[in-house]
Amino acid sequence: MKKAVLMLVFLVAAISLFASVSSAASKAPKLFLNGQELQSATAPRVEKYTTYVPIRTVAEGIGFDVNWDKAAKKAVIHNGDSLIELIVGSKSALVNGSKVPLATPAKIVGSGSASTTMVPLRFISENMGLKVYFDSPSNSVFLYQPNDVNPEQPDGGGNGTIPGEDDNNEPGGDGNTGENGNSGGGDNSIPADAEALITSIQFDGIGTTNIAYAGSATVGEPQMLSNPNRLVLDIPKAAFTEGFSPGFTATNAKMGELVTENELLTKVRFSYYSDKPSTVRVVWDLSAAAQYTITKSDGLIQVSILGSLENVPPNPTTPDGDKIFKVVIDAGHGAHDPGTASVSGKVEKSFNLAIALKVNELLKKEPRIQPILTRSDDTFVTLDERAAMANRLKADLFLSIHANALKGSPASGTETFYNRADSKTFADIIHKHLLGATDLPDRKVKTAGFVVIKKTTMPAVLTESGFLTNAKDEAVLFNEAKQNEIAQALVDGIKEYLKL
Ligand SMILES: [Zn+2]
Repeated sequence: MKKAVLMLVFLVAAISLFASVSSAASKAPKLFLNGQELQSATAPRVEKYTTYVPIRTVAEGIGFDVNWDKAAKKAVIHNGDSLIELIVGSKSALVNGSKVPLATPAKIVGSGSASTTMVPLRFISENMGLKVYFDSPSNSVFLYQPNDVNPEQPDGGGNGTIPGEDDNNEPGGDGNTGENGNSGGGDNSIPADAEALITSIQFDGIGTTNIAYAGSATVGEPQMLSNPNRLVLDIPKAAFTEGFSPGFTATNAKMGELVTENELLTKVRFSYYSDKPSTVRVVWDLSAAAQYTITKSDGLIQVSILGSLENVPPNPTTPDGDKIFKVVIDAGHGAHDPGTASVSGKVEKSFNLAIALKVNELLKKEPRIQPILTRSDDTFVTLDERAAMANRLKADLFLSIHANALKGSPASGTETFYNRADSKTFADIIHKHLLGATDLPDRKVKTAGFVVIKKTTMPAVLTESGFLTNAKDEAVLFNEAKQNEIAQALVDGIKEYLKL
């Protein structure tokens, strides 16, 4: 595997490890009610998958009275509508006279005047009409009263717009030209219909914008617009968390922006665009129409600007009118980046290039395949450029060639990686053929987030034919006849996938 790729993987692993450690260990989660952080002598705590919150702080925060019967260890929580009776240690509670089971009983922490009754968060959400979001990246518990409990909530207008967007024929929104939302003044509460709360928006300095959220998010249909070129993405039923950034609150219509030093992407802008329904809009200002990918996982929306759509050569056809498939062959590493080193001092970049050149020669004989090399000699090409090259060409397939290493280990064998689900079939087929050629142990088809297979938009696979740190694998990988077999196997795999 390539050094830079590995470093990236380790960096990502280190960051996520740090994130989970910092949120899971020692530090108690922060507690927010309707967007305001609740101050309590006893912080919420997580024990064996159960989050406990201090009942008095929460109940009083939403307008309930709490009476504590010390002798019976019973909390009576009531407002005009509801009466909840909770006994510490009991696996059930009374809600308006009906018995309600508690998966985990309420309990007392601390002692004497500092003691606090803690109840499972789930009980709160189910019986006190609160919506709950646990945001793991920021280690925060967000509680919301879904009803409009704030009489100051403005009943109309209040739409945020991105300055300069109104006269463009952008979809969505209502073109409200209200200056700045919140003329009602001082209302920073989270909108009742917000199911996702944006906790941060960050640009990775390369091409990817990470939009972190708590709750459940959906993304609207992205729109690539021109004059000026920009990509517009709406996140419906969403708002910003309290404290997203100073002065940038849930229903504040302010616009934020990130200025990038990317040639294609000049700026990322975001705002609370509409409150009917609550919508967060993110806009990427581009110097040209671009290819992009949008992926959503738990708590994270990632938008990657891949490359310009301009100057894409038309898809060629044979004289018979059959489509000619563009297949990008990517020899990993190059120049000052040698990749891994073998037991006898040979370098990975040479193996990768040798195979890529052989595959290229074989593919050139195929009338319906146009091979394209990301490098044809010992030069250096960045990972992003390799992916961008394939995307610009609108290639049909992307095959990245690497060899593995594991220092001080006898690890041996062939493995094949893919990233997106649309690449799995290609990976399976390539692996089957490659394994037949190397005849090394089967380390299977796996998923990984390597840049070249992640940022490409067509089915993309990365092969690790064997381990250069294993003497037997090295002998196979640097054997001329074996290299020809490997190249032929990759070509067979490509042809099988393309049904040629
Ligand atoms: Zn490599």
